[in-house]
Amino acid sequence: MKIPNPISRTLPISIFCVGLIISCSGVRTVDFETPVDTSDKQITFQERQVYFQEDLGLFVDNTFDGARLNGVEKLNDSTLKAIIRPENEPINSSPYYAFKIASNTPKKMYVSLEYPQGHAHRYAPKVKKPTKDWEILDSTKIFIMDSLVTLELSLDEQPTLIAAQELQTSEQVKDWYQDLSSGKGYVRPYIYGTSKMGRELPVMDIYRGGKTSKPIIVLLTRQHPPEVTGFFAFKAFLETVLDDSELSNTFLDTHRVLAFPILNPDGVDLGHWRHNAGGVDTNRDWSKYRQPEIHQAVEFIEEQLKKDGARLLLGLDFHSTHKDVFYTNTSQEGSTLPHFEKDWFSALEENIPHYKVNESSGNSTKPVSKGWFLKRHRAVGITYEIGDNTPRGRIRTIGRVSAQEMMKILRSNTNLN
Ligand SMILES: [Zn+2]
Repeated sequence: MKIPNPISRTLPISIFCVGLIISCSGVRTVDFETPVDTSDKQITFQERQVYFQEDLGLFVDNTFDGARLNGVEKLNDSTLKAIIRPENEPINSSPYYAFKIASNTPKKMYVSLEYPQGHAHRYAPKVKKPTKDWEILDSTKIFIMDSLVTLELSLDEQPTLIAAQELQTSEQVKDWYQDLSSGKGYVRPYIYGTSKMGRELPVMDIYRGGKTSKPIIVLLTRQHPPEVTGFFAFKAFLETVLDDSELSNTFLDTHRVLAFPILNPDGVDLGHWRHNAGGVDTNRDWSKYRQPEIHQAVEFIEEQLKKDGARLLLGLDFHSTHKDVFYTNTSQEGSTLPHFEKDWFSALEENIPHYKVNESSGNSTKPVSKGWFLKRHRAVGITYEIGDNTPRGRIRTIGRVSAQEMMKILRSNTNLN
């Protein structure tokens, strides 16, 4: 099913605002060297259904949040083709898939994932049986030929969930942040807006005591739906900031954290490869804020800074890519914390066993959040990337230690002032 470009309700106002530096909502836009057109693009919705292959006795299901399956075809008596398509193109090559499959009788089957031409396989398949934990499918059961990836599966009547990464839907994210906040009066979950399709946009506003003039740290994640390993690091990071230790308590006496646990809930629940429901990469929208998710996040951040006379110190945006890497801004002159990266990275190497920081420094020419933190607020901006295949226990360690070392550096920085 195709949907037409949604007509923005604010269109007449937007036209009126063209040429002004400050948009009508009072949010200051930021210019980047290479502008990106982030106006709405058409997306194609997958049809949600249970496919039944009668002669094979197989059921294949995409009727759940986070699913991605665009069609099913029988190739032969032991092989089924699962058609996987992105929400729209052009798109970053991150073929994401997720579906359930069950068989009337226990048997071995092959499922071939078919991506569009030109999109290489990225995510090692994860498998989940009901009541069991996620497992990575053994590499001897994966056969890759160009854009066709064949998986050998042992099926039975219990639905087996096959996915590019462990599912972390908007509902699961909500359960997590509500659990984490409960009983902690200094954590204030707040819905700062709604996504294009009406899903909640949550933020956790965190500080102890008063908030006036407290420097602010912004944590972002899930702009890109399948980047679940970045979200795992975000979870470990935030759980450490909220662990009620002496370090956490003293840090939150002097700092305030705004943590955005899911910036693109539509994309997450629709099983998108990269974009939001406006068909746009939201991490290219940190200039003109044309997408509601980014516009409202920026508006919320700016409001807090203004209302409470605060400075934005640091912004960390959690993502995933092929390996662990920190993308930093090269020009940091005059920034809020000119030595932060250097101090933080050496502390990580000292405190994480056998760990070497992989830093890639560059100036953001495109409108990404890292560049926005620096250009708009002279704040340190870092894209915190975790590898797709980094072991999950290792991600927890990196997330935990990076939070501890950040708190130590910022706390001592406050003491010096
Ligand atoms: Zn990303």
